[in-house]
Amino acid sequence: MICATMADPRPRIYFYSRIDPPALWRDALAAQLGEDTFDFIVGPDCAAPHEVDIGLMYNLPPDGLLAFTNLRAVLSLSAGINQFDRTRMPPGVPLARSVDRSLAQHMVGYAKAAVYRYHRRFHRYERDSRASHWQFEHPRLNVQTAVGVLGLGELGSAVAGALSADGFVVHGWSRSPRDVPGVRGHHGADGLAQMAGAVDMLINLLPLTTETEGILSSALFARMRPNSFLINLGRGGHLVEADLLAALAQGRLEAATIDVGVVEPLPAGHPFWAHPGILVTPHVGGITTAATAAVQLAENVRRAMRGERLLNQVDLERGY
Ligand code: NAP
Repeated sequence: MICATMADPRPRIYFYSRIDPPALWRDALAAQLGEDTFDFIVGPDCAAPHEVDIGLMYNLPPDGLLAFTNLRAVLSLSAGINQFDRTRMPPGVPLARSVDRSLAQHMVGYAKAAVYRYHRRFHRYERDSRASHWQFEHPRLNVQTAVGVLGLGELGSAVAGALSADGFVVHGWSRSPRDVPGVRGHHGADGLAQMAGAVDMLINLLPLTTETEGILSSALFARMRPNSFLINLGRGGHLVEADLLAALAQGRLEAATIDVGVVEPLPAGHPFWAHPGILVTPHVGGITTAATAAVQLAENVRRAMRGERLLNQVDLERGY
């Protein structure tokens, strides 16, 4: 076995992603760890998977990771980890997600753009413009719009805090009670129902787990105010797509912004494409920037090689 040992600490890093360019991540990692201090094997092929110490990946390679029997860690390139099917990975391998300040900045920018688009009625003026129709609407003050954020973690709390600082009334929902300044916190099933009825817009920033799958459904939409708005920035699996279409048809929801899909890219002919009430964006809510994310990734490479707990290590029981 040629795995790294105390005498030979040179990490062997296996890289795989269906969307990310390997050279970008190799260079970003080299800037942190030093050139020629690690081996960088670009997948999906790997001649000696049992010699790999660390998996660096956005998603699993087609054959999974079960042949990588000496893995010390899997480091996700993204903040989400639901794409990692644990049954196709060696049991017990620590998994860390990527938490990066630039990603939160992207996410706050996206959330604000989507909220202001509805709050200032640009979605209606876009439609009116195409119809050469001049329809004045008196703008609402920010304090007259209430926004609910599902998930108050790294991203949800940044979004909720930024919207609160802009003067919106902001509610947030989490699993355990969370104290985010300027945000009215809710938790548990009752908390979700209360929050849904108290807001004009819902932003989803939950992780996809067995508990949160399908949470954006008719049951939730039925509790929302008429003509509310949905902004799904979490994962496609959070949304019951047929329920969204029904809620739009009923006027329960006026419009929705959808950044994530069960299948990405969203297939041709999918009903969301042509729906006048739905804006689809190509999973651009929060993009990890290699140069800044590499700081945490490099630290996790060092920690994994020392057998230490990783930064932002996923609680595999909890699922996020
Ligand atoms: P995080 O720090 O792990 O926070 C997750 C939040 O969700 C926590 O507040 C957690 O509650 C809450 N939560 C989890 N399960 C819950 C449940 N069953 N009921 C109520 N609340 C629950 O995650 P993050 O970094 O903010 O990222 C959130 C998600 O954003 C990711 O998992 C990913 O799906 C998505 N994302 C999307 C994009 C994009 O481009 N669209 C980019 C990056 C990430 P506690 O606080 O009580 O633990």
